[in-house]
Amino acid sequence: MAGENILIVEDEEDIAELLEYILSRQGYAAEPVGTGEKGLQVSRETMPDLMILDLMLPRLSGLEVCRQLKADPETAQIPVIMLTAKGEEEDIIAGFEAGADDYVTKPFRPKVLLARVNALLRRGASTRKSDQEELVFEGLRIHLGRREVFAGDHKVDLTNTEFRILHFLSSRPGWVFTRRQIVHAVHGDDYPVTGRSVDVQVAALRRKLGTAGEHIQTVRGVGYKMGE
Ligand code: CA
Repeated sequence: MAGENILIVEDEEDIAELLEYILSRQGYAAEPVGTGEKGLQVSRETMPDLMILDLMLPRLSGLEVCRQLKADPETAQIPVIMLTAKGEEEDIIAGFEAGADDYVTKPFRPKVLLARVNALLRRGASTRKSDQEELVFEGLRIHLGRREVFAGDHKVDLTNTEFRILHFLSSRPGWVFTRRQIVHAVHGDDYPVTGRSVDVQVAALRRKLGTAGEHIQTVRGVGYKMGE
């Protein structure tokens, strides 16, 4: 399963080199670039299978790179793992809001980083397999393979994380999921739970879905469920 292209966007050379070393040893084709501008340019040219993006970059910040990448339909599907400073929860929330798919805090352990990379790449592969699957609710259709969501006749643009939360809740209508279960389903195990980041994502989802957003119900003191 190796050989995928991974673009590393990191201005600190020693960290970029370490990442390149860890990833190439695992059989990935890793390419480091030192600025956000270059990261966006190379993404459009080579369509990497995944991007590792440092938030602290000179000039164009990692958050801005992520926003631009996810706003462009050509590159929106490229999964992004952001690198954040340890303990900066605000950065993590901002990163998810900008459309990042996962994060790793610096300093990172190679094993943890590789686990996150492998999980994100696998998730992409399993999504491709279920292309024909569609979940339908009143006024809401979710096409898994195309990752498209329609509220009525209107196509809704969701970030990857928003899409995965919606998909997860919709896969078992009526079931109540805790914030912890949602975080684990969307980001994998071994992930620090921040309930607030789930609330932020759900609020954004509801806003984007409009009336169809009423399907996502808050279960007080527990979490969320998809109303039948
Ligand atoms: Ca940096």
